[in-house]
Amino acid sequence: MNQRQNTDRICIIGAGIGGLTLQIALRARGIESVIFEQAHELTEIGAAVALSANATRSLIRFGLGSELASVSTEPSELIFRRWDDARRLWAHPVGNDGAYRREFGAPYYGVHRKDLQQILLEACDLRTIRFGHRLTGLRTESNHVHLDFSNGATERASLVVGADGIRSVIRKYISGGDDTIFSGTTGFRGLVPRERLPSLPDPGAIQFWMGPGAHLLHYGLGDNAEYINIFGVVEGPQRWPNLERWREDVFGEDILGKFVGWHPAALELCRALAQREGWGLFAVRPLRRWSKGPIVLIGDAAHGMLPHQGQGANQTIEDAVTLAAILANPPAESIVESLLVYENVRKSRARRVQKYSWKANRSLHLSDGPAAHQRDLRLHSLPKAIRWIHEHDAELSITA
Ligand SMILES: Cc1cc2nc3c(=O)[nH]c(=O)nc-3n(C[C@H](O)[C@H](O)[C@H](O)COP(=O)(O)OP(=O)(O)OC[C@H]3O[C@@H](n4cnc5c(N)ncnc54)[C@H](O)[C@@H]3O)c2cc1C
Repeated sequence: MNQRQNTDRICIIGAGIGGLTLQIALRARGIESVIFEQAHELTEIGAAVALSANATRSLIRFGLGSELASVSTEPSELIFRRWDDARRLWAHPVGNDGAYRREFGAPYYGVHRKDLQQILLEACDLRTIRFGHRLTGLRTESNHVHLDFSNGATERASLVVGADGIRSVIRKYISGGDDTIFSGTTGFRGLVPRERLPSLPDPGAIQFWMGPGAHLLHYGLGDNAEYINIFGVVEGPQRWPNLERWREDVFGEDILGKFVGWHPAALELCRALAQREGWGLFAVRPLRRWSKGPIVLIGDAAHGMLPHQGQGANQTIEDAVTLAAILANPPAESIVESLLVYENVRKSRARRVQKYSWKANRSLHLSDGPAAHQRDLRLHSLPKAIRWIHEHDAELSITA
C-alpha cells in the first residue's frame, strides 16, 4: 500500500450519526467521500438523543445551528431524585437562565433521533450515499482497499472509515475479535405523550431517578415538553440470552417487577412505555488499535459505551470532527501515520468517558445505605467532575 497521503477515495461504512457527521465535516473542508449503508433507507426508532456542547458546538460551526435549534429542546435543569419518595436530592440549572450555554458556549439539547438524522442527511451530498450496501468483507491490496458488499457490488478505496456501529465488521477486521461486553443490565426506552404522565414532576427537566438495582432517566421534547423521552435500566440478566439479538420481547413484565415500591410517578413512567422489550446494554472493550493501515474506526465501532453519561453520539461526533481535521491537514507524511495521530488523540478521551459511564451505572443503582448516602452527598460536585466532557472542542484538540 502506498504510504503517502492518499485520500482520493474515502469510503465511509455506515450512515449513522458518525458516518453522516464525518461526511459533513469532510465537505466543510472540501474533501469528498462516499457512504455505504446497509439499510435501504434511514429509519430511526422512536427515541431521542441528548447532545451536549462538545458536539453541538461543532454542528453549529457546520451551519446546522438554526435547524438543530428548531427541532431541539433545552432541558430546564438537571435533577436527581430518590426512587421511593421522589425527593429532589440535587438540581442544577441547564436551560434555565441560559446557565449551560453560558458555561460551555454551546447548548445542551434533547432531540428526536429522526430529526437529527434528517438534518445530518440533508447536509450530506445525497448522491454519494449508497443505500442497500452491506459490507461483507474487505482486504488490503497493493495500493487500495478492496470492499465487498452483500448485493454483489465491489469498491476500491484509498481510505476506509468504519462507522458501522457497535457490531462493526470493520472492528473485527482490525482487532480480530468480537470485543463487545455485556454490561449485565437491560434498558427500555421510548417517547411518551406527557398527557399520559399526569404525576410527573418537572417535566421540562432532565431527571434521574436512582434506586436499588435500577434507574430511570427522562427529559421532555417540544416547547412545553409535549413528549417525554424515557430510558430505564434494570440489573440483569447476568448473561444475555442471545448474542445474535440484542432486543428481547419477553422482558416487559420482568422489568416492571424490578420497580416494586418505587414512587407512583416513577411507576407511571415505566408503565407508559407501550414498547415492552428490553435492550441488552453492551459496550466495546478498550481496543489496542483503532486503525490498521488505511482503515480506521469512528463512533460506536471504536468505543461503544454505556449510555449513562449520554455521550455515545457526542463522542462519535467528536471522532468525526477530529478525523476530518486530521485528513484536511495531515500531521504526518503517510496516511497510516496520520491515522495513528487521530487514534492517539481520541483513544484516551473516549476510554475515559467509557469508564465514567461504567462508574455511573454502578452508582445509579445503589441500594439505600452508606454508599448511596455518600453518592448523594457528592452530587453537588458533579458539574466540576464532568466539566472536561462538556467543555471539549474537538477541532481545537488537534491544533492545541
Ligand atoms: C438506549 C440508548 C440511549 C442513548 N442515548 C444517548 C444520548 O442521549 N446521547 C448520546 O450521545 N448517545 C446516546 N446513545 C448512544 C448513541 O446512540 C450511539 O453512540 C451513536 O448512535 C453511535 O453512532 P454510530 O454512527 O457510531 O453508530 P450507529 O448509529 O449504530 O450507526 C451505524 C450505521 O452503520 C450501518 N452498518 C452497520 N453495519 C454495516 C455494514 N456491514 N455495512 C454497511 N452499513 C452498516 C448501520 O445500519 C447504521 O446505520 C444511546 C444509546 C442507547 C442504546
